[in-house]
Amino acid sequence: MYYAYDICPKCRNKFFERKEAKENEHDFDVYSDTCCEKCGEGLVLACVGKKKIDDTIYRITFRATESNEIFLNTLCEVNGSDLRTEKDKLADEKNIVLEGDAVHTFLNMDSLTGAAISYEVDPDFPFLRFGNYAVCLCPTCGSKTVVKTEEMQDVEDYMLQGFFCEKCNEWVMHCSISKLALDNAVYCLKFVLEEKNDVKIEKIKRLVESLPNKLEDGQIIISDKAEKIYTLLQHLKAEQISYEIVPSFSHKVTAYKEVTEEDLKEILELVYN
Ligand SMILES: [Zn+2]
Ligand SMILES: [Zn+2]
Repeated sequence: MYYAYDICPKCRNKFFERKEAKENEHDFDVYSDTCCEKCGEGLVLACVGKKKIDDTIYRITFRATESNEIFLNTLCEVNGSDLRTEKDKLADEKNIVLEGDAVHTFLNMDSLTGAAISYEVDPDFPFLRFGNYAVCLCPTCGSKTVVKTEEMQDVEDYMLQGFFCEKCNEWVMHCSISKLALDNAVYCLKFVLEEKNDVKIEKIKRLVESLPNKLEDGQIIISDKAEKIYTLLQHLKAEQISYEIVPSFSHKVTAYKEVTEEDLKEILELVYN
């Protein structure tokens, strides 16, 4: 089971545990129906993990190699200090160490990531982090955004998804995301694989092994999401192996094609020109 924790986008000072645990890490709604006890703002999802948050103290270490503005400002932000103090500290410390509980480590990791500073966390931070708190309020008008997904113009396989302010009629943050990744249906795929010594068949076997599979009456049966089984479908199509899939697969499957040296050359030319 997965446990989820919310944060107040305004106070950003503590985690609030969601009442319900869920089977999947992506099953939690972004917006909680609970409000911040201090300011009354609606809470938003901050992190999800397989275990509950305990009193572990995490240690973030990063190198103080640059003395640029972004770096120093980040230090001020994470330490709650001023520029002068941080500049003095840099003079004699090679590594900056920040120790803190889960919520402070979470906030510090976000600040460092935002400033493109690489860091290490010890022990490993065992939660999946969401940056919802930074985009759940519109920076222009302050109202609560909504999660929105819409079709993209001229792009068939991708959708736009992000946080949208309905009052300003503007995206606060958005990105393109493949329709495969957005498809949460679990498909049941069945096919028969001939026993023969062939590199391509071996490759299909390895793909099968990497997915939840079972063998029934000589048939391979796989149940998983669209994104997970897609490469396998491409290989089956390339080898002209017929298969059954339920529910019917709405995404277009193109036959798998090895990348040749010619293709590589073409890609490299595109990148360098
Ligand atoms: Zn608050
Ligand atoms: Zn707005």
